[in-house]
Amino acid sequence: MNDNQESIFGLPQEVKICSSCVYTNQKPNSSIEFRFKKTDLKSGLKFYGSECSACSYNKQKDVEIDWKLRKRNLQEICDKYRSRNGSYDCLVPGSGGKDSFFAANILKFEYNMNPLTVTWAPHEYTSWGWLNFKTWIDGGFPNYLYHPNGAVHRLLSRVALENIFHPFQPFMLGQYSFPLRISKLLGIPLIFYGENSAEYGNNINDNDSPTRKLSDISFRNIDEIFIAGESVSKLCEKFKLKQLDFEDYLPLRFDDYKDTGIEWHYLGYYMPWHPHMNYYYSMNSGFLPSRERNAGSYSRYTSLDDMMDDFNFFCMYIKYGIGRATFDAAQEIRRGDITREEGAALVKKYDGEFPHRFQNKIFDYLSINQIPNYGDNWSEKFDNPGMDMNNFKTLCDRFRSPHLWEKDSNNKWKLKYEFK
Ligand SMILES: [Zn+2]
Repeated sequence: MNDNQESIFGLPQEVKICSSCVYTNQKPNSSIEFRFKKTDLKSGLKFYGSECSACSYNKQKDVEIDWKLRKRNLQEICDKYRSRNGSYDCLVPGSGGKDSFFAANILKFEYNMNPLTVTWAPHEYTSWGWLNFKTWIDGGFPNYLYHPNGAVHRLLSRVALENIFHPFQPFMLGQYSFPLRISKLLGIPLIFYGENSAEYGNNINDNDSPTRKLSDISFRNIDEIFIAGESVSKLCEKFKLKQLDFEDYLPLRFDDYKDTGIEWHYLGYYMPWHPHMNYYYSMNSGFLPSRERNAGSYSRYTSLDDMMDDFNFFCMYIKYGIGRATFDAAQEIRRGDITREEGAALVKKYDGEFPHRFQNKIFDYLSINQIPNYGDNWSEKFDNPGMDMNNFKTLCDRFRSPHLWEKDSNNKWKLKYEFK
């Protein structure tokens, strides 16, 4: 038994498992990504007795929220912004997954809006993700699809892997920023997202607001911005990048907000958000689940379009002991789709499965020595510029928190606690 109890991300040393779902108190609360420094610690999911805050909020929302009133509120917002001349009147960011199918369809056909859909491209499309994206657009939804500078995006993804073991983070920054920029560019201030991530923990009080706080989507000074855990000035200096290289990842400038009045609304505030039901709803419009179950889970209908998703979840498993099956099962248990017993069995069976299916593509993507020369010689800045299994495993071990992991008698890593 390894007695080192150091929690390298600041999460609680004693692991607690929710008695209602399968989350543990190691699930970190989401950060404002563009302010997250590589030295920052995380706060974990709150517990009330034996139950996590996500479960306690979900039970509360079923009985305390007046959904008819919220529906009227949505109607009022749509009435205020609805176009009188046939032009686009709201943005729906998404990838053509079940939630963006649902959101765009509801707004267009139930609320008589003219949504324009906007997509920040995945790192590497899966074939079924691309097919769903096409089906979404072909269903009557015009779209702006944006690809950032491929060399810079790959570099930042690799830096995020090295710094915070989060290769998905630059993608997330762009995914949030792109709709804001299009909103400003086209003068369409109303943006509709799906559910608030606070439904899955974070600060539960955030669920009481239909919109995202301005401070979470805007900045006043570039010194506030961190990408891949590093300041923009440091990244510029180290990799000889220009400010233009970062423009796609920046949130809204505060002055832009003053001029445009952009509003980021959560549809999940106005209607109960049920991912499994969104999946059934979307299938009526042609959405298809993936051909195979997702690596690390049993599901075939969530986060399908990007090969990097597998690695995003695997990295969370290494850092927090929470993998893709945990995320899938926890929300399905809360919405009554499966029992806790079923969910726990699925977590035991699938959580932490290595995503071999896309490993070659993703290792290539994260290999700095395979990026065509963009200017400075980036390869020299990394100890191992190429990415392969050995290199990836070494990085994994750097991010395993000693309070969660130990080696068994066969010298294999295992979680210190028994999942029940
Ligand atoms: Zn729970």
